[in-house]
Amino acid sequence: MAPAVGIDLGTTNTVVAVSQGGLTRVLLDESGANLLPSVVSWHPDGRVLVGREARRRRVVDARNTIHSVKRLLGRRWGSPEVERARRSSTFELVEGPKRSIEVAVRGMRYPLPTISALVVGRAKQIAEQALGETVTQAVITVPASFNDLQRSATRRAAKEAGLEVLRILNEPTAAALAYGLGMRTSERIAVYDFGGGTFDLTLLDVSDNLVEVLATSGDSFLGGDDVDSAVAQVIGRAMLRDTGVDANMNIGVVALLRAAAEHLKVQLSTVERADVELKAVGYAEGGHPIDYKYELTRSELETIAKPFIDRTLAVCDDALRQSRLDVAAFGSVILVGGSSKMPFVQERVEGFFGKVPRIEYNPDEVVAVGAAIMAAVLTGQERPVEPVSMPKMPRAGALPSDLAAGFAPSPLPVVAPTPVPLPPPPPPAAGQPHMLPSGRSQQLPAVPSVLPMPPERPAPLLIDVTPLTLSVETIAGMVDVIIERNTAVPCTRKRRYTTGVDGQTEVVVRVVQGEGAVASQNAVLGELVLSGLRPARRGDLWIEVAFELDADGILHVRAVDEAAGREVQAQMRVTAQG
Ligand code: AMP
Repeated sequence: MAPAVGIDLGTTNTVVAVSQGGLTRVLLDESGANLLPSVVSWHPDGRVLVGREARRRRVVDARNTIHSVKRLLGRRWGSPEVERARRSSTFELVEGPKRSIEVAVRGMRYPLPTISALVVGRAKQIAEQALGETVTQAVITVPASFNDLQRSATRRAAKEAGLEVLRILNEPTAAALAYGLGMRTSERIAVYDFGGGTFDLTLLDVSDNLVEVLATSGDSFLGGDDVDSAVAQVIGRAMLRDTGVDANMNIGVVALLRAAAEHLKVQLSTVERADVELKAVGYAEGGHPIDYKYELTRSELETIAKPFIDRTLAVCDDALRQSRLDVAAFGSVILVGGSSKMPFVQERVEGFFGKVPRIEYNPDEVVAVGAAIMAAVLTGQERPVEPVSMPKMPRAGALPSDLAAGFAPSPLPVVAPTPVPLPPPPPPAAGQPHMLPSGRSQQLPAVPSVLPMPPERPAPLLIDVTPLTLSVETIAGMVDVIIERNTAVPCTRKRRYTTGVDGQTEVVVRVVQGEGAVASQNAVLGELVLSGLRPARRGDLWIEVAFELDADGILHVRAVDEAAGREVQAQMRVTAQG
């Protein structure tokens, strides 16, 4: 049977890895590339291109070339993130059913998970070519900050691509797993993930293979792409001054400048100065093409990039504040994401945390490697024990194609399952709830998140925790917490409620996610309506609400009319932004 793979489905790039026979390695495509651009392009000849070929078409066919969908996956039409993306998008975003988002390309409309499915499908194909077998199972990673809708959308994308998702794993947890951190000792880890389109800082506490998210903070519109845009603007201004060609008049030239800007940026991670030659940015009288050459130094790039790096550090400050810990509390800082290969980023992170960040493993690959290790553990395959080949990060800024695959993580220790503590007693209800908590709430013991143990050699235990509190909204607009933030998943919580007014025939269970005490401060995940209740006096009718958060972080909500035995679980409809 083919091994299960680990897939890091990134905003900019996707990476697929496998852990087999003691070796964890990134799987390369037929041209030897380790990174699969998360880009899909609809060619005029009818082909649907995915990956590098598609990425090349960002320049010549920006309207029909879709990228960075992860930023919008699982979000709602009209939410600030979507509005923002619409303003800068080079392709058309349209409203789909139930306020979902679709892309309109060449007269067709596609839901965002379908775009991601095309990328995952290509990753699956790369894995199958590399392994010579059909791949059917995968662990897929997502940012720790992803909510249930975003996780569901990711799962749907993988299913559409024909994969059984063994687990949706938090990206920082995967990175910690790849480094083998905290597996023997207890350690606090900061994972600084600076990719192409997003930035996340996650603070983890890892001990005895139990991974707790202490805090996670991020910006889904902050990444290397922003640096590229800023550099492209600088080039565009210089070009206008030197040649009279205004890049903004032609979407193709805008895309060309961005590609040139990225090329310069990547080069400048290894050299002090670099140049690009832009062909046919415009046409002179007589139809002669105008070419333009531009040179940039590393120090000029650093000046342009500084505001963006400052913003990443502000996010770090925010996460530290959330965790109420000082930088000194963190034993390791791991660098993840292609943009962390910039030497300036590494210097600034070192300055912020007061320690040299870890970048021994390629930050582009480390998350996929952790996912592959998890996939091997979940399928009970032999765990990687001996580092067979461990290419370290070559030099800061090596081009993606230089980055060879194939390294093994630190040996994973064997530990006994740790019981998950029982949940605390329910908090007192605030105000008059939709359904008053009974005070006799039934609390079920949490299900310990123990990974399947291979018969001979026990696999490590690794527990993720939910990063945000899950609650129901009460009549007074407050929240009644059901699953607290940082609860180990999977977990199940049940609460009993009674009707709030005489003759009430319908209850609405509105599920919110977040830390605000007032419901409106949180994201609404959806609503469940239990109608047709027997009219009774307030307090006479009982409804059991069950929240089941599975190992992938997907929330299943059920409401049961205890007397009639009727239950609803399928009517969840999303009412607000993700
Ligand atoms: P990711 O989202 O992790 O795949 O990271 C992609 C981002 O990393 C893009 O903005 C790339 O331009 C950037 N990147 C990749 N390699 C380098 C490099 N050597 N130096 C600077 N940025 C890089």
